[in-house]
Amino acid sequence: MPELPEVETTLRGIMPHIHQQKINCVRVRQYQLRWPIPQDIQQRLYNQCVQTIARRGKYLLLGLDSGTVIIHLGMSGRLRILPLNTEPQKHDHIDIEFANNLLLRFTDPRRFGAFLWTGLRVELHPLLKNLGPEPLEKFFTWKYLWQVAQGRKIAIKTFIMDSKIVVGIGNIYANEALFLAGIHPSTPAALVPAESFQQLVKAIKKILSQAIQQGGTTLKDFFGTDGQAGYFANQLNVYGRDDLPCISCKDILQVIRIGQRSTFFCANCQPLKIK
Ligand SMILES: [Zn+2]
Repeated sequence: MPELPEVETTLRGIMPHIHQQKINCVRVRQYQLRWPIPQDIQQRLYNQCVQTIARRGKYLLLGLDSGTVIIHLGMSGRLRILPLNTEPQKHDHIDIEFANNLLLRFTDPRRFGAFLWTGLRVELHPLLKNLGPEPLEKFFTWKYLWQVAQGRKIAIKTFIMDSKIVVGIGNIYANEALFLAGIHPSTPAALVPAESFQQLVKAIKKILSQAIQQGGTTLKDFFGTDGQAGYFANQLNVYGRDDLPCISCKDILQVIRIGQRSTFFCANCQPLKIK
């Protein structure tokens, strides 16, 4: 599933090709994504210029002259830049064709992605208005996270994956950040000590920045080839490593389920503290 670093990488990959470009045509081959694509999307987008390209959480926002296209990659979505007239394959649901003879293609085999339009202020859109801070912005501090956690009994892992608390921390990066911070993923959020919140916020910022940096190496893939922005799988310390030794203490890593998501941790490096 594309997570924040993959979405950021996608943004940086498509930006140079479509920024300030005029839309000549939109072709939709499949309207049924997570929500139906607006039937009038072609008329809405026609002849408009891409003024801005931004990311909010895992949403990509194409700011046009009179509104915004909201794109979410869902479970399996991806965006590629291709030459005009590139033959579509099975799951290529949408093409936006530009005046510079390139097209932006949205491909999504599982169809959990989204492709929506708003002519209103995008930050007030129902999908965006309740989102928490961006993890890489300076407003996201350990004090903020610690304050919001007070009185919360939910597991710290579920807590940091809640986009109302902070956006863009998916399962892989939640596992990795809790390992780096030495916090057992089941610890009730309110019982995580302030010092551990400092470690946690540091770890979240470090892991996401590294992943974005790593993703930068795949940028060339956004033109032409399959455009898959990979995870930096070789650098994962705990995710997917159950029954393997901890890189730090050599104890065997464990896997449990928290909120239906696979949760990997080292019981030695991340001891469970319950008051
Ligand atoms: Zn360990």
